[in-house]
Amino acid sequence: MVNKDKIALHWKIVLALVLGVIIGAILQLEVMADWSQQIAAILKFGASIFLRLLKMVVVPLVASSLFVGVTSVASNRDLGKIGLRTAFYYITTSTLAIGIGLLMVNLIQPGKGAKLGLTVPALTDIQTPGSLWDILLRMIPTNPVAALAQFDMIGIIFFSILFAVFTTTLQKSEREPVVRFFNSFYKVMMKIVHSIIALAPYGVFCLIANLIATTGFAVFVPLFKYLVTVTLALAVHFFIILPLIAKFFAGKNPLNYLTAMAPALLTAFSSASSAATLPLTMECAEKRGAIPSRITHLVLPLGATVNMDGTALYEGVAVLFIAQALGVDLGLLQQATVLLTALLVSIGAAGIPHAGLVMMVIILEAVGLPLEATGMIWAVDRVVDMARTATNVWSDSIGAAVVAHYESSSD
Ligand code: ASP
Repeated sequence: MVNKDKIALHWKIVLALVLGVIIGAILQLEVMADWSQQIAAILKFGASIFLRLLKMVVVPLVASSLFVGVTSVASNRDLGKIGLRTAFYYITTSTLAIGIGLLMVNLIQPGKGAKLGLTVPALTDIQTPGSLWDILLRMIPTNPVAALAQFDMIGIIFFSILFAVFTTTLQKSEREPVVRFFNSFYKVMMKIVHSIIALAPYGVFCLIANLIATTGFAVFVPLFKYLVTVTLALAVHFFIILPLIAKFFAGKNPLNYLTAMAPALLTAFSSASSAATLPLTMECAEKRGAIPSRITHLVLPLGATVNMDGTALYEGVAVLFIAQALGVDLGLLQQATVLLTALLVSIGAAGIPHAGLVMMVIILEAVGLPLEATGMIWAVDRVVDMARTATNVWSDSIGAAVVAHYESSSD
């Protein structure tokens, strides 16, 4: 039988990138002057289709993924204390990760001076929250239906979690129909997402060809700086912060634990999917890392869905990079919005390749930046995705170790 999908998606994206660069360069030639505008318009149209499709799935995907994630764990009777500790670990480490990312991107300024050929949004379109309280207040939607319709992601996330938590308090017979409905709903959404991600090579081709045609090759310098910034920030979190947590809060020798988890981490790195890696993560944590199975069975599946330090860090860096490249100065409060949204986005992102980039729409919307700016980022996303997925799984593994440590000392 002939395998239709002989070329892996990421190679198709690389090919699309190369083709996009070539076509973009041809469009810049003098002889093409008569044609280039029409062709650029067609490319822009293609890119818009891709970006609109991405935006289309975000609301139903996030709402159902959170519901499924929370209800699948919360129905476990062991929840309570373990659940609270787990949630505390997840929120703390993800916030730390975003902090490191924001620090790096502010220090290195990879986007400064870059020309993306995009119009800078009018200052009035940039969302400025009044204060930190304002950001927190905005989490509570006054009308959840309006939140869904108006793309108010923070409100949607807050309500979905609340709805899921209270669903778990129902009797089994009352709970089951709701849970079954949303499980199937989520599966449908994942199918749609998979097919949209499969269109990424075409989207990347249109975005990059259009970008090169309008701005030339200068975009590659900031893109390289962006790659260095994300990689450096991820490395700090992976090799310094998380091992320190493992040592001081889980009583583990970080190097030994890293070796124990190596098969899972390498699988995460090569598959760019923490969901696909989950069985291996559980196996390594139990058999090689000596974490009790009652902990791994609770903490790791939840972690693979909601705890994504690498994704959270990357969201912050990428959005600030885009803002810098557009010459938009995001102040402290706007960066606080980025931090909070990045945290929520990483919770809502699915553990599949490129999910983090699909979700970036949410943060860009929250601060009022144009979606087209993700074009360049798509082009190099696979490499970044591999590194952030390994970081996600490493943080899940250490989370399990920390929870196990506190469980055993409180027994
Ligand atoms: N690929 C990541 C994961 O599976 C999610 C992301 O795209 O950031 O963990």
